[in-house]
Amino acid sequence: MKNHKKADAFGDNHIGTSVETPLRSNAFDKTDDEKIEAISFHYQKIMEELGLDLTDDSLSGTPYRVAKMYVKELFSGLDPKNKPKISIFDNKYDYNKMLIESDITFNSSCEHHFLPIIGKAHIGYISSGKVIGLSKMNRIVQYFGRRPQVQERMTMQIFNELKTALQTDDVIVVVEAEHLCVSTRGVNDKSSKTTTLEFGGQFGDTQIRNDFFKMI
Ligand SMILES: [Zn+2]
Repeated sequence: MKNHKKADAFGDNHIGTSVETPLRSNAFDKTDDEKIEAISFHYQKIMEELGLDLTDDSLSGTPYRVAKMYVKELFSGLDPKNKPKISIFDNKYDYNKMLIESDITFNSSCEHHFLPIIGKAHIGYISSGKVIGLSKMNRIVQYFGRRPQVQERMTMQIFNELKTALQTDDVIVVVEAEHLCVSTRGVNDKSSKTTTLEFGGQFGDTQIRNDFFKMI
């Protein structure tokens, strides 16, 4: 009972514990197919505990569908093998102003309730002489979204990945999102959204940061 109280408090306050997604050391010992088979088995048990009759044609395939959706779609970003390959190019044009990729849509899942987080990310960077393909920024956002997440952690993970890829600290990331665990349960607020940001390097300058905010 004490553990349940702690679980409720963690979820309701949306607390995360670290920048790295907490993973078991044996997280990828099983193949995707082995995971899908195991999760199907457990999800069937959950549905049966809820009282559902799994011999019904409409329900019988649900444990498999959920398991496949978890492993291949919603949580595929847990596995490093699915990380987007990022090619770095030299900045041939000597463009040395801010580059902004805004309104990058993503879906994620709240790790406290396994309900959707639906939002947009806005990214800015100032090239150190290296650039990446524009669509890679979308792919990085989507990759980190496909995990059980806490929005603050997702923001930091995208920021750190971009800093490494672009070889600069001059990066800013803004994430704004609706959390279905806030809008469809608990406090049931249909219109609130959560905004997080992380920045480094030249974006520490208020003027440069404001230039970015004006353009997104
Ligand atoms: Zn939640």
